[in-house]
Amino acid sequence: MSCSSSSGSEEDDEGLESYRKGGYHAVRVADQFAGGRYIAQRKLGWGQFSTVWLAYDTITSGYVALKIQKSAAQFVQAALHEIEILSSIADSAPSNSKFVVQLIDQFKHTGPNGQHLCMVLEYLGDSLLRLIRYNHYRCLPMNKVREICKCILIGLDYLHREHGIIHTDLKPENVLLVSTIDPAKDPIRSGFTPILERPEGNINGGVTSLIEKKLKRRARRAVAKISGRRVSMGGTGEAHKSDRNMDGIDVRCKVVDFGNACWADKQFAEEIQTRQYRAPEVILQAGYSFSVDMWSFACITFELATGDMLFTPKDGQGFSEDEDHLALMMELLGKMPRKIAIAGAKSKDFFDRHGDLKRIRRLKFLPLNKLLIDKYKFSEIDAHEFSEFLLPLLDFAPERRPTAEQCLQHPWFNCKESIPNEMINESSVEKVDVGMSNLKIKVGK
Ligand code: ADP
Ligand code: MG
Repeated sequence: MSCSSSSGSEEDDEGLESYRKGGYHAVRVADQFAGGRYIAQRKLGWGQFSTVWLAYDTITSGYVALKIQKSAAQFVQAALHEIEILSSIADSAPSNSKFVVQLIDQFKHTGPNGQHLCMVLEYLGDSLLRLIRYNHYRCLPMNKVREICKCILIGLDYLHREHGIIHTDLKPENVLLVSTIDPAKDPIRSGFTPILERPEGNINGGVTSLIEKKLKRRARRAVAKISGRRVSMGGTGEAHKSDRNMDGIDVRCKVVDFGNACWADKQFAEEIQTRQYRAPEVILQAGYSFSVDMWSFACITFELATGDMLFTPKDGQGFSEDEDHLALMMELLGKMPRKIAIAGAKSKDFFDRHGDLKRIRRLKFLPLNKLLIDKYKFSEIDAHEFSEFLLPLLDFAPERRPTAEQCLQHPWFNCKESIPNEMINESSVEKVDVGMSNLKIKVGK
């Protein structure tokens, strides 16, 4: 199974055609799971493997996220793997695991499309992708970027050093805020009364609401045609509204989606990571380790700070997406050292023996610092500080990239408007010593 799973644009939906034997389980509001313990409230999201629902836990009287996997054998296998990883993570000291999602329970659920493995996870808020979209793909304030980075890094340090686990699919969809952006969407803060029984005539469920959504979209298109306007189907259509104030948004976050994670000493797949967040050694098939997550982390950080993805490769006349990707990397970071360029199993597909790309000859170099100033209007000092933080993470030599632990010590976190540790000490996430002193070093692989 390809590990480059992606929910693509979250604006899309999971597709009705996947609700079939071996596919998704169709859920309706108030459906019961695990012998009535969990009651479905509303859909939270979806991925290539699953749909995820907000559920009310009748035993604890709290809310959980119910991840319901597709039922075909390979998805069951993937879920078992995810459960294995999540259980091993949950096993150790809870204070250290605060920045990765917690597995609460698991069970099987049989429906018309087969038997689905279900994971009960702690309920979290919106993904970083939704945050970026909410911010209209503009630059997020640097203090917010720093807060988010700190959470991801503590999560990564925990996974890498304490468990020897590589996430392999870090991207904005797979980092979730602890709270919802809109407080009205939070069942606790909004004083939502849990739905325990299906109201008479209620057709609002996963599949039915999908059909409604499709119909609405078709209607919108029809209206747009009549009025001769082009409607942006992708975004919220609010791109020209005034800037949102991000001050009040709680950006503490956690790493989720361990469906593709692996142990550094027990790897399964050669092709890992979602395209835009993929490290060069993965493209070249030169072997990989924890540092692939650090590359993806740098890509996410850039995206938060600018609103744009760092690399968006496309295939073109006479060259592949992979080759374009390598070219984009070199245009930003300088030429890849020959030794590294020719060292992978796939190197010969892209590079000649001098270490030059075979099909893309003229590179347009634009260093990160200059890109930040010219295109994103960073001040010189901000651009300089930010580049100093990011560039070491984007080293072509994987072993030279800083570890998550080293990254947390970087002076960028002490830049002036930064408010480093406050967020960690607030109530809903228990206190964690952000200085890494309390993390035991266990993994010495
Ligand atoms: P997949 O393995 O199918 O990609 P994910 O674990 O990435 O599934 O979950 C799919 C989506 O469901 C996420 O992008 C997010 O929107 C939502 N989601 C997942 N886990 C949670 C959670 N614990 N709390 C709230 N929403 C969640
Ligand atoms: Mg996912």
